[in-house]
Amino acid sequence: MYRVTFIPGDGIGPEVAQAAQRVLEATGVRFQWDGVIIGSQAQDMFGTPLPQSALESVRRNKVALKGPVTTPIGSGFRSVNVALRQELDLYACLRPYKIYPGVPTPYKNVDIVVVRENTEDLYSGIEFAKDGLRTQELLDFVFDATGERVKKDSAVSLKVISQTASRRIVKFAFDYARQNSRKKVTAVHKANILKFSDGLFLDTAREVAEEYPDIEFTEMVLDTTCMELVRRPQQFDVLVLPNFYGDFISELCAGLIGGLGLAPGANIGDNVAVFEPTHGSAPKYAGQNRANPMAMMLSGVMMLRYLGEKNSADKLEKAIAEVIAEGKNVTYDLKLDPATAVGTSQVADAVVEKLK
Ligand code: NAD
Repeated sequence: MYRVTFIPGDGIGPEVAQAAQRVLEATGVRFQWDGVIIGSQAQDMFGTPLPQSALESVRRNKVALKGPVTTPIGSGFRSVNVALRQELDLYACLRPYKIYPGVPTPYKNVDIVVVRENTEDLYSGIEFAKDGLRTQELLDFVFDATGERVKKDSAVSLKVISQTASRRIVKFAFDYARQNSRKKVTAVHKANILKFSDGLFLDTAREVAEEYPDIEFTEMVLDTTCMELVRRPQQFDVLVLPNFYGDFISELCAGLIGGLGLAPGANIGDNVAVFEPTHGSAPKYAGQNRANPMAMMLSGVMMLRYLGEKNSADKLEKAIAEVIAEGKNVTYDLKLDPATAVGTSQVADAVVEKLK
């Protein structure tokens, strides 16, 4: 029996999370779910979007299955998704993107694993508002230190890249490659422009690569990577990126393999892991039984593997792949004729049926 923190999230979160819960239970592995609420609902109920009790539950159980949570744009609370990763030091975001037979996509044979640094970079949360109390001090300091005059009406967000975080994420990527029979790790960067921050990431990646002579190491600038991913994605194996670029490259890769409805993910630290799809809460589909639960289910497959339940993970992945290949009980995003699409819960029924 595994005790797992269950965070349904909001928007389409509860629907896809419950669908994933059902198929996980249908594998025969036994779970005790510890349900917790975060985000705007928690803000209303407890006065904070990320209650300590929720964090404690994840720390205690060490594993969580999480649906997406909405972040207010511009104002309101900061992203609880980012805060959760930072609070629990879930430094590695692991996202495998592969094409399952039957998925409507013009690409073939894509099998890319994105390893994204999860705790710093432009998402460190260190920001100075326009006209903020300390912003002018910061701008004065910048002028003193560099002679660069930043416009007075500026807002500033800090891009922070540390050697420590770069080293552990690149090591994570190489260890993953080794453990999963992958051949190549590519570090993605903009060190040509951002000489200090991305330069440090790249230098660190080169150093770590020397410790893994059995795995090929390549490096590529971000813009070239975007173009090459669209042109010939088969050349990539494992990509390792700083947080900010990892965000966009993840969605680009999701686009290659049939969309966000099929893009799973995990946030992993040294002792704790939170499994959640790449996609957000897609509010326009909330409560409509329309969203594809497969990204969430495949995140559950990753969770089973993390728990050491390899056979059940393989069985569940195979069941999902069969439902995709048959093309009948799939949601609108996997249908050439959306009028024939089924709903979120029917997809779960079909996967459960395959597991019988
Ligand atoms: P989104 O991923 O929620 O949705 C973008 C579009 O992708 C949707 O409109 C829909 O067309 C499609 N889509 C997404 N998931 C799908 C699914 N399961 N099945 C079928 N189609 C799907 O991105 P967004 O609209 O930019 O973000 C909505 C909210 O989610 C924002 O508040 C954002 O901050 C939040 N968000 C949360 C997380 C997280 O919890 N980890 C991640 C990303 C975004």
